[in-house]
Amino acid sequence: MNRRLERLRGSLDYPLLVTTPVNVRYLIGFESTNPALLVEPERVRLFSDFRYAEAGRALEGVEFVETARSLLGDLAERLSGTIEFEAHHVSYAGWQTLGARGIELLPTRGLVEALRAVKDEEEIDLIRAGTKVTDAAFERIAQERFIGRSERELAWRMEQLLRELGGELLAFPVIVAGGPNAARPHSRPGERRVAEGDTVIVDAGASVAGYCSDCTRTFAAGGLSDELGEAYAACRSAQQAGLEAIRAGVAARDADAAARGRIEAAGLGETFGHGLGHGVGLLVHEAPRLTRESEEELSAGNVVTVEPGTYLEGRGGIRIEDLVVVREDGAEVLTSFTKELVSVE
Ligand code: ZN
Ligand code: ZN
Repeated sequence: MNRRLERLRGSLDYPLLVTTPVNVRYLIGFESTNPALLVEPERVRLFSDFRYAEAGRALEGVEFVETARSLLGDLAERLSGTIEFEAHHVSYAGWQTLGARGIELLPTRGLVEALRAVKDEEEIDLIRAGTKVTDAAFERIAQERFIGRSERELAWRMEQLLRELGGELLAFPVIVAGGPNAARPHSRPGERRVAEGDTVIVDAGASVAGYCSDCTRTFAAGGLSDELGEAYAACRSAQQAGLEAIRAGVAARDADAAARGRIEAAGLGETFGHGLGHGVGLLVHEAPRLTRESEEELSAGNVVTVEPGTYLEGRGGIRIEDLVVVREDGAEVLTSFTKELVSVE
């Protein structure tokens, strides 16, 4: 029995049916778009359809059961008694199907996600590998021309670099946002061409062996206005304060507050509308969340982003994002690309 399943078992009162594909992948290393893993004290059964049967039968320590393509309907007939399920993943229709033949269903939330939030060193090494690729791509894009190229061209170039330099996949579609578009945190790259005086936000990450990385830097196209230069300085200072606040045992909201305080002190509090960061692992957004509202406490082994932003409507925006490992005594910063303001041509 593997360590992850052992840890999960410790938190169960009843058999747990895990249906979130990324959670199944985490627990037994099995990739399927249509899996269900039933974790019981004495046995672990994996259910999936024909497309995954060969891979499923090759697994060790797990009994594989081939099902119909409509997985939950099939399970409703095979299983009985009381079963816990992942309430945040099974839809209302799925719940009706699964319970139609008398299984008593008990909702759970975030059990596997809580395990995933604390990474082991093997996982951290994979995230580190993805971060190295991402850093290298930033080094390369920083050498290239920005002014006159569209956001879409720059995003595609960044995606090429991430793949060429060793990324197996992208952790998420690259964001490039220049000028007024940089004032929108989740702007999609468009046809607008970068112009002199723009801030250009580049948010990108490679993934290696399923593990994501996530980095944002903001470049200056030529010189910046005083207003944007000051906003950059405030964001940088906030990012540093966020890093310094992070260590095991700290409330996630306190780390957020440490960074936010610097931006407020610069008179830009209204311009930082999102949280300080988020966990990164098999998904690019996972637990824990570092926000004003977060009730979570940081634990050693969390891998989180630290990414304050300042967004000035119509004029531009700045975001600076590092990926860090939470350790007992502080934040181990994985990202290495410079946070000095880099001017591009
Ligand atoms: Zn990002
Ligand atoms: Zn992020």
